[in-house]
This record gives sequence, C-alpha cells and structure tokens, in this order.
Amino acid sequence: MFTLRSMDSASASTHAYDGVRRPASRAPRALATEAVHAGRDDLARQGLHAPPIDLSTTYPSFDSRAEAARIDAFAATGAEPEGPPVYGRLGNPTVARFETALARLEGAESAVAFASGMAALSAVLLARASTGLRHVVAVRPLYGCSDHLLTAGLLGSEVTWTDPAGIADALRPDTGLVMVESPANPTLAEVDLRAVAHACGSVPLLADNTFATPVLQRPAESGARLVLHSATKYLGGHGDVLGGVVACDEEFAGRLRQIRFATGGVLHPLAGYLLLRGLSTLPVRVRAASATAAELARRLAADPRVARVHYPRIGGAMIAFEVHGDPHEVIAGVRLVTPAVSLGSVDTLIQHPASISHRIVDAQERRGAGVSDRLLRLSVGLEDVEDLWEDLSGALGADAALTSSDRGAVTV
Ligand SMILES: *Cc1c(COP(=O)(O)O)cnc(C)c1O
Repeated sequence: MFTLRSMDSASASTHAYDGVRRPASRAPRALATEAVHAGRDDLARQGLHAPPIDLSTTYPSFDSRAEAARIDAFAATGAEPEGPPVYGRLGNPTVARFETALARLEGAESAVAFASGMAALSAVLLARASTGLRHVVAVRPLYGCSDHLLTAGLLGSEVTWTDPAGIADALRPDTGLVMVESPANPTLAEVDLRAVAHACGSVPLLADNTFATPVLQRPAESGARLVLHSATKYLGGHGDVLGGVVACDEEFAGRLRQIRFATGGVLHPLAGYLLLRGLSTLPVRVRAASATAAELARRLAADPRVARVHYPRIGGAMIAFEVHGDPHEVIAGVRLVTPAVSLGSVDTLIQHPASISHRIVDAQERRGAGVSDRLLRLSVGLEDVEDLWEDLSGALGADAALTSSDRGAVTV
C-alpha cells in the first residue's frame, strides 16, 4: 500500500514540477509576453491560473534508494533534481517558476535565486574562491555593500579596482571574476558591456543589471556570463520583498545551486511568488517610470538649484543629481517622495548615498568613484510627473541665489 501511494504522489508531483522547467518547444516570444507567461506555461493544463505557493520544507518519499541517487546526482553537477525536491534548501517549485521566468527574460539558460542580492553575490564569490580563483577585478562605483564585501575580503577574495580600460591589464592567473554595474549605483555611470566582456577573455564577467532590468538591457547578449539582480528592487517592484538572482549558463547555475544548498541563502517561496508576480508588470512599470524620470531629469538639469544631473543613455527610472545647496535639506523637505534607501518601487524614493547606501565605502574611495557628498539618488516611481516635480521643486528650496553660470548640465 505504501509503495502504491508513494508512486502515485511521486508521479503527480513530478509532472507538476517538471512543467515549471520544461515548456513545450515553441517560437521565441517578445519580452512583454514572456513577462506574463514565463514560468507559468504548465498552469492552464493543470486547471490553474495563479501559480501555487508550495511552502513545504520537506518532501515525502518512500523510496530512499531513489533519494540517494537524486542526492548523488545533485552533488555531481548541481542540476535541478528530477521530480520534487528532497528538502526546501535544495529547491522549491514556486521559486523555480521565478527562476525560469527571469532566465527567459535575461536570455540566459538558467537562473538561481537567493535570499537577497548580497546572498546572490556571496554565492558567486564562493563559487569562484572554491576553485582557487580568489582574485576579483572590479570597476567602481558598485553598490556600497558589494564594494564593502570585496574591499573587506569578507569571503576571502582579493580585489583590484580599475576602470573599464584597465581590466585586461588587471587580470592575473588567479582572477576568477570581473565585476561591473551598468548603470552603476549610485552615479548611473555606464560601461560598454561588450567591450568589457571582450577584455575579460575567458574570465567570467558579472554584470549587476539591477538598475537597467532586462527591459532596458540584457547583458548576457553582450557577453556577460553572470547577470546579477537585487530582485528586491525592480523585479519585485513594490518594496515588499527581499531577493536576489543570478542568470547564467546551466554549468555555472549548478555550482551556484550547490553553494546555495550548502550555505543556505535560499529565497522563501512566498518571496518567489511575489517576484514572479512582479515580473509580469516589469516592462510596463519600467517604461512608465522611465518616461517620468526622463522628464524630471530634463527639468532638474534646467534648474539653477541643481549643479549636475546624471541620467543614463539607456534611460531608466533612476536619476542622480548634485545640488548647490545642502542635500540633507532636500531629504528633509520632501513630502510626497519617500526619503528612504532602496529603489525600484512603485513609489518614488530619494536618498543621500554618502550617508546611507554608500556610507560603508571609505570616504576618499567613494568620492574618487564619483559619489560626491552633494549627490542625491532618486528612484522614480509611478506617480504623476507634475506632482513629483512640485514636491521635488519644493524640497530643493529657494536657498541658491545663483548666477546663470551655475546652471546645471546633463551628463550622460
Ligand atoms: C540593492 C542592491 C544590491 C544588494 O541587494 P539586496 O537585495 O539589498 O541584498 C546589489 N546591487 C545593487 C546594484 C543594488 O542596488
């Protein structure tokens, strides 16, 4: 009787789980279509519309010989086990849907999700260090905590900071990773990903694509082997879920799954559900917020109270700007905009990088990377542009009685 029950439940679960990973072969679909369908291809045939949330921490099996074989297979390659997972730290069907969808959006073979963006970056560094390749070449600025993780060598890595043109010369026999952000947090500096990927040779390039999202830029197409997201930002999009994900080839994904299994930085299934839901509106949110941001960037650049505006060539919903006056007064002065760190939410957020997101970076290094003490970072949301401008303009105050020579300029 037990044998019969186990076979029934195993075959039912196997079918449901495999449907997440193996869509029927079909013609390529546009990004907007993938955003709402990827990771959900099996649902209609199961009579479902919303994806199920599987909160199981463990999965019953009456066949421990088969479990042993599945664990051996995972230990060998890190490939997703056939059938249901053994244990929640090894894999989860709801999280797998998000991974499938994100991989599809980034044009990558696979994706591996983590508890946060920093957990995702940690897994990549551990994956490289465990093969003896501890040296990292990186371009500043990076997100403050990524900078700190590398600079402090918390995971045993050693970093060489360089500019994009210096990457090829900075490579050593023990270099395991080259890391860039584009547009970078917080200055929105952009690098030519194709040129950087070329300079890396056989060393994997990790591009943090958190700011651009696959809607504006797909680094894998430019030669980045690893595409990292703080899913906490645009992928989730509503400021209510922490997560991270790496899109990459299946070989590297296997290594990342093994590290995730061994170190435990898993994404919670509820977070997986929310991130999958977030992806479905990602193209619409990013395009709408970007249009508003482009207009705000234009108005800020024309405003005498603003010294400099940074807005990326590829567009996007992030703006960085330097004020003539006291940036802390701007933060204190907003009413509609939320003064908070983080970004990519439906509501507009503003923060002072030198005080918060990049506080942990040495002040001299920070300024050297273009993060001036007068820089403010604005994450534009979905509010009406006129309401946002009224609030920003009010927060900028009337304190700068400036001559026309101080008028702002857009740098792209
Ligand atoms: C926020 C952020 C991270 C870190 O992500 P968490 O989800 O907060 O751990 C990494 N990179 C960039 C560019 C970020 O903005």
